[in-house]
Amino acid sequence: MPDPGVFILVVAAIGIGWGLGRFSRRSSAVEKKDTFPASYYRGLNYLIGQRTDQGIETFVSSLEVNGVTLETHIALGKLMRRKGEVDRAIRIHQNLLGRSSLSAEQQHSAHFELARDYQKAGLLDRAERLLQELVVNAAELRQKSLVLLTDIYDEEKEWQQAIDTGRQLLPKRRIVQRSYEQNAMARRLAYYSCELAQAALDSGDHRETVRQLERASAFDRQCIRAGMLEAEHLLGLGKARQGIKVLERLVGQNPRFMVVVLPLLGRCYEAEGDVPGLHRYLRGFLEQHESTAVALRIAEDLCLQGAEGEASSLLATEMARQPTLRGMSRLIELNLDSTGENVDDPLSSLHTLIERLGENKPAYRCDDCGFSGQQLHWQCPSCKKWGSVAPIGGQGID
Ligand SMILES: [Zn+2]
Repeated sequence: MPDPGVFILVVAAIGIGWGLGRFSRRSSAVEKKDTFPASYYRGLNYLIGQRTDQGIETFVSSLEVNGVTLETHIALGKLMRRKGEVDRAIRIHQNLLGRSSLSAEQQHSAHFELARDYQKAGLLDRAERLLQELVVNAAELRQKSLVLLTDIYDEEKEWQQAIDTGRQLLPKRRIVQRSYEQNAMARRLAYYSCELAQAALDSGDHRETVRQLERASAFDRQCIRAGMLEAEHLLGLGKARQGIKVLERLVGQNPRFMVVVLPLLGRCYEAEGDVPGLHRYLRGFLEQHESTAVALRIAEDLCLQGAEGEASSLLATEMARQPTLRGMSRLIELNLDSTGENVDDPLSSLHTLIERLGENKPAYRCDDCGFSGQQLHWQCPSCKKWGSVAPIGGQGID
């Protein structure tokens, strides 16, 4: 069966030929020849014979570069890029540069496409230079160029440059409402500030940590990572009570992230010597939300106090509400402990089976592309979006 992409290309090639024929006849004063170069037919032949790549290159070389054919050149270059033929895309777009037959805006479009080719080919410094020029010289492409430039600095982990570039897309004054795209950019910038805050925290630079965290929070007050870093920093400074406040505010805004925040929240309460306070808070949380992680945390503390029976009954209540493999596995363990483990015991076999079921089950998933894994990534390893990976919750794991 013929590839539909090739079919479209053949139709496009014939259409362009027809269009150019008409155009050249109408403007015969300008264009003297009204037949096509042999390479046009050769290209068409390649396309019909499904030798798409040679077809396109030959076809492009036969096609004059001017305002009328520009879109075709650009579209064919984009097609090559999408197919992963980046070298060909680069050649097609480079062929458009410095042409006196194109207006300044048309030249800018060609530059922009070439920058995208370079990015795809991993030639980031070249892409960067082209885009920096476009930001200055091409008002009509400034926004798109800034977004792509931010993506490139992100890829290079040049966080400060990514912030400086991305913030040019946000409204200058705080009171101006941000658009959907601007909000998405602000969320990204908060994560870049967190990267800088994490580096400052690791090197013990408290002043810089605070500065970066304030900046992250100005970009996005609900940024989970910024809140967690702030709490970590406060805990290190012996201000665990303030850390607790920050973390509980985060959980209040986004209860889904309790499983992520809980270990740090536990450390803050422990630093304050207030484990009963933690339990009051966690039991209050369970009244409003289902959470295996919270029930397990309380159960573990109860076990440490020798109250296995109470731990088991708390976990059993939570499993009746929302059964999860992790919760059921621990519940069985607690009951095995009280009766003494025996491999022939049906409960012990059930425990082994549940453990096996839980193996390799993802705990986190990207809301954007569906990538899932057992670790939380602040930036999705698959689609590269920031803050889109969240605990799966309620689906048999948490
Ligand atoms: Zn993703």
